[in-house]
Amino acid sequence: MQIGVLALQGAFREHIMTLEALGVEAEAIRKPEQLAACSGLIIPGGESTAIAKLMSAYGFYDPIAQHHEAGLAVWGTCAGAILVAREIVDTVPGQRGLELMDIVVRRNAFGRQVDSFEANLHVSGIEGDVFRGVFIRAPWIESVGPDVEVLAKHDRHIVAARQGDLMATVFHPELTGDPRLHAYFVEDVVGSPRQ
Ligand code: GLN
Repeated sequence: MQIGVLALQGAFREHIMTLEALGVEAEAIRKPEQLAACSGLIIPGGESTAIAKLMSAYGFYDPIAQHHEAGLAVWGTCAGAILVAREIVDTVPGQRGLELMDIVVRRNAFGRQVDSFEANLHVSGIEGDVFRGVFIRAPWIESVGPDVEVLAKHDRHIVAARQGDLMATVFHPELTGDPRLHAYFVEDVVGSPRQ
């Protein structure tokens, strides 16, 4: 099984390292043609407006949607969570997302860079200790549709959610060296039925 990590901008290297530490084959995705070999795709944190521009320039929008229709699981982290959302609130005019997951995401909701923080999270489906969440100019998930399972909250705000083979986390699970969310994506989310 190969997991692709969209490698246009942002923290893609750390995702690849975390997957490789789990023994999972990981590929930096720079062209849409590479998606065909993947069972799952991670869209990393970074700057969602920059990633969106590059996705458009490299022609990723339709291929990601088509591969998702054909079974590609998708996990968006932070900026990636913004890009998988059905609706983005408080964004720049014209920013377009992939509109894959039935969630509404508010950009920079937890404040500006100076307000970045870490917090211990209880994530449903993750066994053991709390999960350390690193929030960097993080969005939050403002609302979810009926088929979406809330996986974690911080301060009453939804910070992780799942809809079948789609997942969104607004923090950076690739920066802490804790591979449990990556293992959950690979073992539980990839290959699960469409909702
Ligand atoms: N605030 C960023 C954006 O809107 C996301 C930050 C991040 O990915 N850490 O794209």
